[in-house]
Amino acid sequence: MIPYGRQEITEEDISEVEKVLRSDYLTQGEAVPKFEKSVAGYCGVNYGIAVNSATSALHISCVALNLSPGDWLWTSPNTFVASANCAIYCGANIDFVDIDPNTYNMSIESLSDKLKKADKLGKLPKIVIPVHFAGQPCNMPAIHDLSKRYGFKIIEDASHAIGASYDKKKIGSCLHSDITVFSFHPVKIITTAEGGMALTNNEEVADRLSRLRTHGITKDKKRMIKKSDNEIWNYQQIELGFNYRMNDIQGTLGLSQMKRIDKYIHRRHEIAKKYDLELKKLPVKTPWQSPKAYSSYHLYPIILRDNLGNNSQKKLYEQLNKNKIAANLHYIPVHRHPYYENLGFKKNDFPEAEKFHQKAISIPIYATLKNDQQEHIIKTLKEVKLG
Ligand SMILES: *Cc1c(COP(=O)(O)O)cnc(C)c1O
Repeated sequence: MIPYGRQEITEEDISEVEKVLRSDYLTQGEAVPKFEKSVAGYCGVNYGIAVNSATSALHISCVALNLSPGDWLWTSPNTFVASANCAIYCGANIDFVDIDPNTYNMSIESLSDKLKKADKLGKLPKIVIPVHFAGQPCNMPAIHDLSKRYGFKIIEDASHAIGASYDKKKIGSCLHSDITVFSFHPVKIITTAEGGMALTNNEEVADRLSRLRTHGITKDKKRMIKKSDNEIWNYQQIELGFNYRMNDIQGTLGLSQMKRIDKYIHRRHEIAKKYDLELKKLPVKTPWQSPKAYSSYHLYPIILRDNLGNNSQKKLYEQLNKNKIAANLHYIPVHRHPYYENLGFKKNDFPEAEKFHQKAISIPIYATLKNDQQEHIIKTLKEVKLG
């Protein structure tokens, strides 16, 4: 089976991981801080806080920005459930902003309209989480402008988008947001098996994030709340945190993978370019690219044309499957999951995201996809009788 995405693990990765396994520290050693520095340096941001998943990073980012019961958080419905669940972990209310049918990202127009209405009702969001779907960056300057007007904070869910840039600035630089979150799950651009990172330029937020990932404990005398009874063992839990730490086995794997990140993105672009060209004559829409953006091409979603039958998505999926190609569907709109329908969301609440879900298929794209595999995928796509 050709999967839709997968990791690459080199001999060098293995030998780096082995070194950690033979060392004194499996966790809380040097590897994680080195990995954090490497990612932060790459993105041009002041602080990187590594955690055990992007989901954890999203959760503590919301806590660090004081999301509380009664507050609202808005995100895109065309995302993985984690981008919305983080609001609910904090006891906050969740709502969605429909996507732009061209970029598949949160629509700036819909966001602007929804803010206008929410302002009148006194129900403005405290946090908005734009998601850089498929690795295609959102128009962050526009979202940032709206945040200044309406006073919300921004967390970029860049789980798909390490290595992408907008206006020649790397995603993760946090030029237009408070915090950016990456995922290092094996299907993403680089991997630590499980893992994530929150990036920020704000020292206070960085400090809070590092405390929240380890139980809310501080060893920093300046932060301590009461005078210590014991000078030797002095640490204080000053708020409620979690055990969300990344370990050194993961950190060293991530550090080793960072050496190849640009090569990975370059290869993903090569694959995308070939798909763009070869699929041109098929009744599908290939991913639109903003002239200001450089995608990381985490995904390559193709959209079946409107005039094709309702059955065409299933037919295409089955035909690919028969030819040992495991296509995928990103995403079931978050609000259509039973858990979210129980909160009151329903069909047609966010029609563009739902339409996308009916018509899209993500075909394989990853750095180690071979040319002959891609040719097999293209040939199979050309042979499917759609309609
Ligand atoms: C993968 C993903 C996540 C969650 O990442 P984990 O590291 O698995 O927790 C969150 N948001 C989006 C958009 C993702 O694709």
